[in-house]
Amino acid sequence: MQRSILMIYTGGTIGMKQDEQTMALAPVDISQIEEEVPELKKFGYKIETCSFDPVIDSSDITPAFWIKLCKVIEANYDKYDGFVVLHGTDTMSYTASALSFMLENLAKPVVLTGSQLPVGMLRTDGKENIISSIEIAAAQDEDGRPIVPEVCIYFESQLYRGNRTTKYNAENFRAFRSANYPVLADVGIHIKYNRHLIQYPLDWKKPLKVRDKIDTNVAILKIFPGITPQAVDAVMGTKGCRAVVLETFGSGNAPTSEWFISTMKKWIDKGMIIVNVTQCLAGKVDMGAYATGVALRQAGVISGYDATTEAILCKLFVLLGRYGSAERVKKEMQRALQGEFSAI
Ligand code: ASP
Repeated sequence: MQRSILMIYTGGTIGMKQDEQTMALAPVDISQIEEEVPELKKFGYKIETCSFDPVIDSSDITPAFWIKLCKVIEANYDKYDGFVVLHGTDTMSYTASALSFMLENLAKPVVLTGSQLPVGMLRTDGKENIISSIEIAAAQDEDGRPIVPEVCIYFESQLYRGNRTTKYNAENFRAFRSANYPVLADVGIHIKYNRHLIQYPLDWKKPLKVRDKIDTNVAILKIFPGITPQAVDAVMGTKGCRAVVLETFGSGNAPTSEWFISTMKKWIDKGMIIVNVTQCLAGKVDMGAYATGVALRQAGVISGYDATTEAILCKLFVLLGRYGSAERVKKEMQRALQGEFSAI
């Protein structure tokens, strides 16, 4: 049977081309994408497109946008074998993380991609990114099942689990990194899927459920030498704030000063959920390794293990939207729901 892919254009550099007269960058009409990437015809797949209106720079992405995107996928879920989302790179890791928690029981590929240079420019990286993303979104095994039924990011010959990524390079074509989880596929002459690293549904027939209640009453606090009690209280005391992603040093360490630990404890006693992630790009939080980490654990701070800030933030958004009880949210935060952290 002919494979079918829905390509959803949301905005970002990838969908731009230079106006011949003014030389300014303007969005292409996505329904004409085959003019820019004529290679798509060679697939023999049914590739249909739809576009957000207006298309946006990904710095303007909001949770309302994620809900809209999930609804587009939900409305078209039975009609297509896979989805390719064209998205700006700046917040792509946030969107991929959010989607991984919002699209419960996902059993089809959702591949986000973008580019550093517009698709309408000579040296663009966008064409290859689109072509390989389509191939990956359409890839099926011997039983006709999708090879990568996950929310992923494809960029510069690598396929990543979306909620493990961070944008780490604003210049290079290899813009993303998944420091704590190996790539799901390497694209060279062949596409080499690392099938043992891909998550497969336990029950393929479970209907897709969109978790569309998001609570954004979350803050991020990056600690630094010299941080003051006022700065910590200002963040933790943000009106309505229910949870804080605490970006700590090294393997989850923070100052041991009495005021810091007692401030953490004060906010936790008031019901605040504090999740510890490391400021380092790679490695994990271990609140048993140093006295500085043990003190945080004893105060009630919970571990984000080796998850990214983006993944923990988006997971909190979705869980706080779903559960009123802080205890329930804390319990779920300590389970990997979508492969967002590895092991305890
Ligand atoms: N500012 C752009 C965006 O994220 C950059 C890009 O697409 O790479 O939408």
